[in-house]
Amino acid sequence: MFQLKDKVALVTGASRGIGRAISLALSAAGAAVALISRTKDMLAEVQAEITRRGGRAEVYPCDIQDAVKVAETVKAVALEMGGLHILVNNAGVTRDNLIMRMSAADWAAPLNTNLTGAFNCLKAVTRPMMKQRWGRIINITSVVGVTGNAGQANYAASKAGLIGLTKSAAKELASRGITVNAVAPGYITTDMTAGLTEEIKLKMTESIPLGRLGTPDDIAPAVVFLASEEAGYISGQTLLVDGGMVM
Ligand code: NDP
Repeated sequence: MFQLKDKVALVTGASRGIGRAISLALSAAGAAVALISRTKDMLAEVQAEITRRGGRAEVYPCDIQDAVKVAETVKAVALEMGGLHILVNNAGVTRDNLIMRMSAADWAAPLNTNLTGAFNCLKAVTRPMMKQRWGRIINITSVVGVTGNAGQANYAASKAGLIGLTKSAAKELASRGITVNAVAPGYITTDMTAGLTEEIKLKMTESIPLGRLGTPDDIAPAVVFLASEEAGYISGQTLLVDGGMVM
């Protein structure tokens, strides 16, 4: 497995689902992890689990839509945890509806968190990463950002935007030793997908060559790889982790 000893990672949306699994995996590889989401109690549970397994994690409750709070949080992490080497922009929300029924607020919600929130975090980490001339930024997008999806125009636009942000940041930051990549999960069983009917889940499974829905633990190793020293010649890419669903 790849080694992240002496590295500090910041993971957004770390309180549950994919972000929780990514935080545990980064910690298992040796990184100290700053856990970010809006819910302190759930972050504390993830922190306790990491501590129980012999790792180090700190809790930083923060709404990533708030650029000022994000900048303060990033400063505090770098100061208190001894640097900041890896950013995983994982926090995300959905507000599914057909375009003709989608309110302006529902259109804006995924864009504000999934895209602007990721931008806020990315912008805040560039200074410490540029200074140390090393950084890894991994944005969690979605296969839907590549293919589009009926009923998810807002979410798909936010995730496609995240791919554009990934490529642009990769070009801007490469000369400072910072790589920027995206991971696009397929269908993963978490709170986000818990509401889908059994019929939709069955249909989804039929469209996946590997014949099963994904779990958060299917996504985490791809993030650990892209965060590693060994992935240093990969930048601006979107890695689909979807059981072969989109190819
Ligand atoms: P969950 O709904 O299980 O978790 C979402 C996480 O994001 C929570 O930790 C939540 O914490 C956090 N979050 C939401 N809004 C904010 C905010 N404004 N500020 C800070 N944290 C926030 O989602 P998943 O684990 O399923 O998804 C994780 C990522 O993977 C998302 O970006 C999602 O779009 C993407 N993805 C998921 C797929 C799936 O099938 N599940 C497929 C493809 C992509 P809190 O509520 O405490 O703030």
